[in-house]
Amino acid sequence: MDIPRIFNITESAHRIHNPFTLEKLATLGAALRLESGDRVLDLGSGSGEMLCTWARDYGVIGTGIDMSQLFTEQAKLRAEELGVADRVEFIHGDAAGYVSDEKAGVAACLGATWIGGGVVGTIKLLAQSLRPGGIILIGEPYWRQLPPTENIAKECLADSISEFLMLPELLASFSQLGYDVVEMVLADQDGWDRYEAAKWLTMRRWLEANPGDELAKDVRAKLTSEPERHATYTREYLGWGVFALMPR
Ligand code: SAH
Repeated sequence: MDIPRIFNITESAHRIHNPFTLEKLATLGAALRLESGDRVLDLGSGSGEMLCTWARDYGVIGTGIDMSQLFTEQAKLRAEELGVADRVEFIHGDAAGYVSDEKAGVAACLGATWIGGGVVGTIKLLAQSLRPGGIILIGEPYWRQLPPTENIAKECLADSISEFLMLPELLASFSQLGYDVVEMVLADQDGWDRYEAAKWLTMRRWLEANPGDELAKDVRAKLTSEPERHATYTREYLGWGVFALMPR
């Protein structure tokens, strides 16, 4: 079981697989007023940077589940490196339908809400692992500017304009589901560059090391087109943020 190989190639050097920087992750941890011993569940935990740094900085304990074998291995190594391997556990697997036995004070899904079939389904899934008074974290894109055409939405790698909302609408949608939005930390364009531009050097080096690979042609084409696509579309039209929710 694994995610499509192209992501394991292009994001192999990422510690954070979304437009958040290390500083934004730390800001989010501080904003949530985490306390030592708080339990955090992370669906689609990637390379584990959130759980590992929060375990180091705030003393949380936690579990991450991710379908990428590579990212899960990297998460375990990162936990060793930061000296928190006794506090955080990383499981390689499909997080769809995952409900934890021990309820969490923070139940998160950052940049992987397809795991629950979209934002609404993911909130419902996370709510099943949440202790009373706990906080759900959703990391999700929104439109900074509404794309004037469907083609522009596609160039932002969205399925359609309707896949994402504008920020006020996204916040309103949480409220309509019966949740208070109690915090939010938004990514910025520099964060998008860290996420997207970091793929370019990774792709270049991978191409040099793997010229005969079956994906070499695709990776070559991506490396050629991505900088301009990112600057024209994603960087201008897409925002991204983490929203902290508590049921009313
Ligand atoms: N939250 C992490 C990773 C976001 S990228 C971070 O912010 O760094 C999306 C992640 O979802 C990837 O790590 C990918 O491997 C994982 N993923 C995709 N489908 C999944 C599934 N069905 N179950 C668990 N993880 C999944």
